[in-house]
Amino acid sequence: AVNHALGKNLIGAFYQPKGVFMDLSMMESLPKREIATGLGEIIKYGIIYDADFFAYLEQHADAVLALEREAAVHMIARSCEIKAAVVSEDEKESGLRRILNFGHTMAHAIEKETGYIRYNHGEAVAIGMIGAADISARLGMIQEADVARVEALVARMQLPTKAEGCTVDAMYRDIFHDKKTINGKVNWVLMQGIGKVTCRNDVPEDIVREAMAARIGK
Ligand SMILES: [Zn+2]
Repeated sequence: AVNHALGKNLIGAFYQPKGVFMDLSMMESLPKREIATGLGEIIKYGIIYDADFFAYLEQHADAVLALEREAAVHMIARSCEIKAAVVSEDEKESGLRRILNFGHTMAHAIEKETGYIRYNHGEAVAIGMIGAADISARLGMIQEADVARVEALVARMQLPTKAEGCTVDAMYRDIFHDKKTINGKVNWVLMQGIGKVTCRNDVPEDIVREAMAARIGK
């Protein structure tokens, strides 16, 4: 994927890798903030595909944060398995693969409004996932308790739950420039529960704006 002046990852081509290699010693050399950033996307895999994996992250939060060997191997392997399962079922990003975009619609707006500097990608995704969960609850698709679980796990993994330096008007404008926007309709990936998501392009503007407003602050 290539970045463009109009936004991140706007130009892309499809090539599947021959193999995926992960070196835990490399990961252990990363600063804590980078580890938390990766955990943003790892939490996403639990929300979109695997409730047990989400529960595992809740129950093993300390081991996960400390990168204890067993927890680190499990969380990385499971994330890769889920991504591979989703991508191999849908190589050209037509349907199922869109679920990988969970949390990213709001995240891209946050990244853009903060100059791609204040928050790194996983931090913006973490905030965006709570935003998407909030929209899902406002539409009656999930319970408030599910939103609370998402927010609690994000916070537990030392990720931000709100974004500073954004306005609702700017964020709302930005979501229409996202590459996932089709015919002027924003395709939201929303929750039907922990471990299950679906795409919807009929979210009313006031609900999006309310969810965005709830994500702005310290
Ligand atoms: Zn991402």
